[in-house]
Amino acid sequence: MTIFTKIINGELPSNKVLENDKFLAFHDINPKAPIHILIIPKKEVENFQSVNAELMGEMTLFIHEVAKLMGLDKSGYRLITNNGKDSGQEVMHLHFHMLGGSKLTWPHLADTDTKNFF
Ligand code: AMP
Repeated sequence: MTIFTKIINGELPSNKVLENDKFLAFHDINPKAPIHILIIPKKEVENFQSVNAELMGEMTLFIHEVAKLMGLDKSGYRLITNNGKDSGQEVMHLHFHMLGGSKLTWPHLADTDTKNFF
């Protein structure tokens, strides 16, 4: 069980934004942008690589709703999911980071020189 399951079950507190029977959106405890929301399925799914298309389809509609609720649907936002070891995924429960609320930077993300890869 991950901390996100504990949040879903109400065993840990969270600052909720939107919830329905299948998904939950809440504020990240360590925000990387003025608005930083985590969006998760209530079903235990390890990461994006193991989510099925049906759940992902429903999750997409939920993500759209969160964006509208946060006023980011017009101004824009970045959606990130860390998937597995190299990505730095810390919580092994599928989650999308929704980042916005200001103009975001696009920093170099790898610890290797990317120039020679293409
Ligand atoms: P990741 O590195 O993609 O697995 O992201 C995990 C995210 O969960 C990080 O951005 C953390 O700040 C966030 N996080 C960890 N614990 C909590 C919590 N109790 N409430 C809200 N966000 C959390």
